[in-house]
Amino acid sequence: MKSMVFLLVFLLALPCLAEPRLLLAPRDIDRIQKVAKEQAWAAQVVRSLTSFADEWPAQHVREYGLKEWALPAEGAGWSHAYVCPDHGVRLTQRAGKNLCPIDGKDYHGWPIDQVVYMQRNGNNAQAVRDLGLVFRLTGKPEYLEKARRILNAYSDLYPTLPIQDNNNKLDTKTGARIMSQTLSEAGWLVPLAFGYDLVRDALAAEDRARFETRVLRNAADVIRRYDAGKSNWQSWHNAALLAVGLLVEDRELVTLALDGPSGFKFQAREAITADGAWYEGAWGYHFFALNPLLLTREMAVRAGIALPEAAALKRMLDAPLACVFPDGTLPNFNDSAYTSLKSEAHYYDIGYRLFQDARYLSVATAAPRGLESLLWGADSLEGRKAEPLASELLESAGIAILRVLGSDHALAVKFGPHGSGHGHYDKLSFISYADGARQAADPGTQAYAAKSHDTWDKMTVAHNTISVDGQVQKPATGKLLDWVPLPHVTAIRLSAGPVYGGVELERTLVETGDYTLDVASARASDGATHQYDWLYHNFGKLASDLPLVPRRLTPQQNGYQHLRGTSGVSTDGPWQVSFSNLCVRMLGDRDTTVVTGEGLGPDLRVAVPFVMARRSGESAAFAALYETGAITDFEGAAHSFTVESAQFRDKITTQPFSLNRNRGSQPILVAIPAGAQNTWLGNFTAAPAEVDWSPDGKAVDLYSKAASGTLRFYAPQAEVIRVNGRPIDAARDGAFRTVTLR
Ligand SMILES: [Zn+2]
Ligand SMILES: [Zn+2]
Repeated sequence: MKSMVFLLVFLLALPCLAEPRLLLAPRDIDRIQKVAKEQAWAAQVVRSLTSFADEWPAQHVREYGLKEWALPAEGAGWSHAYVCPDHGVRLTQRAGKNLCPIDGKDYHGWPIDQVVYMQRNGNNAQAVRDLGLVFRLTGKPEYLEKARRILNAYSDLYPTLPIQDNNNKLDTKTGARIMSQTLSEAGWLVPLAFGYDLVRDALAAEDRARFETRVLRNAADVIRRYDAGKSNWQSWHNAALLAVGLLVEDRELVTLALDGPSGFKFQAREAITADGAWYEGAWGYHFFALNPLLLTREMAVRAGIALPEAAALKRMLDAPLACVFPDGTLPNFNDSAYTSLKSEAHYYDIGYRLFQDARYLSVATAAPRGLESLLWGADSLEGRKAEPLASELLESAGIAILRVLGSDHALAVKFGPHGSGHGHYDKLSFISYADGARQAADPGTQAYAAKSHDTWDKMTVAHNTISVDGQVQKPATGKLLDWVPLPHVTAIRLSAGPVYGGVELERTLVETGDYTLDVASARASDGATHQYDWLYHNFGKLASDLPLVPRRLTPQQNGYQHLRGTSGVSTDGPWQVSFSNLCVRMLGDRDTTVVTGEGLGPDLRVAVPFVMARRSGESAAFAALYETGAITDFEGAAHSFTVESAQFRDKITTQPFSLNRNRGSQPILVAIPAGAQNTWLGNFTAAPAEVDWSPDGKAVDLYSKAASGTLRFYAPQAEVIRVNGRPIDAARDGAFRTVTLR
């Protein structure tokens, strides 16, 4: 009662407690109040916002080991500089100490302390947003007062700071005042502007004028100095410029942010590939860019600006779904660490509100709903369950995910455009997952200031591909030659090149629930002899029966210098090594040197073992099999292979792809490409087809995505015939049956 009276007095005291409009409008505040009353998760979000607002700034002061709350007195530094100079690992901030997690040493001075200034500024901007929200939800002036304190402190400080960059250089194009790059200035400004909008009509006119001139307009001037073109940077710039333009009613800024040469519309058109993947080919940057793009959309909607280009954001939500691994992570290709889709759940919550795609629900509900869900998420996340994921091809991004129904085997292969400054020289490399664990590894990226970022992360030798003459591949775009995605086996054939001199690569990967077949080759068109290093890195511990002897590997550059504990052996015969629960077998060829050792992985503290096969000549081919223990025999050459276990015998051809699996003389699985046929299956359609026979031959399952055409298949004992899971009648034709698809 007391607080209601207080609120009433307070409301009366302010002639126009008028409306926020930037990222929340009054109707949003009403909705948030309602959801928080009705739903426990939302009540929890409001409770933690409120306790944050109550405790501010005591908690901030404690967290950063300050004497009292104040803004950092100088400009901040670059997050990637927060690295131990001895170990290259990221430091940990604790009560003002910058600790190496390996030996606990505390580091200070430029650029380390400046990174903490960056964190503090980021936290202060978010505090304004959160204090503003709690002020709107409760009407209590103490929250307004706290927000005002931060806003006024920035009004005092902002114009006094010089423009400085990550390297501490003054007045460079990418530099900024509060932060050390226009990107971070924009990322700081957006929540600050959002919070300002929530409280501004309760501020004194003088405070408003000072903040709008000294901070908002000034920061927009700093940010717009640098047109970052097609980029995640510019997407953040655009969100910040739009926020300022709308708040200070500057039409020119609004137009620049949306319609400018590098505005939102340009980014939506140029930076989102046809598959929906962000063009930089790194999932970290994909979501990092999606964030300001979604915020821009929310601002435009509330400002009554039509933005049909925002429909492209749906593709950006779809692409990660196509690529996710069984453990919920996305491939860490290019400059990307492991991105867990679970930690991006709120985008799918917002996405479900925008696009009502039922597939988003499983991601949106994978993590507890938080602040973003409360602000911009769906009213309800109840809905039907989505289908299990199948193999997917993102052709313009150049990523394919090979998946197998009823198995956790998954493999992601990379053949797309290089990915500009964040690309790795790793054409036709892949990573994989099987039997509950990550197998084939990519180092992803370390913090950019870590020495091994340039000397290892990006290097060809750090990837599961072929390096030529110990060199780094040239940036190249691969080509898709064959794609046969079927429920229980998927095959892909790719080429890339020239990756070095006149050398072209080709690779076929066949994923089944029992093994992966990998046939990789390199061919020189210059008639010269080259040295080809086939490389494979897999998590775990390497074991081998090979008579390996310690051997120093050459070259000692281009990333090879990071390969440690190397031993080798020369052999003409087939060989195998194992990595914890995964066995790698390779067919023999003359003059092969097999080398094992350890390289660097995504976590610099955990070495990742590798095996390398080195061959020389005009060309070289490497046929390998990855399996988890059930395979008894692997043979073949060129384009034809057999793989045997106690349960089956597979005959595989790679050009064109086909797989015939028999148990004894009975077929149990046949897979062929579009239009092909063999002894057991005639496929008169424009799509690949698979047939599975039950062991007694009584149940026959056909799979094809063709909308029309005919499948003729061996089925002398068939009692049940299904096409894509649905029972169907099939005409009899001797020992064969025929179904017509329509
Ligand atoms: Zn250290
Ligand atoms: Zn990589």
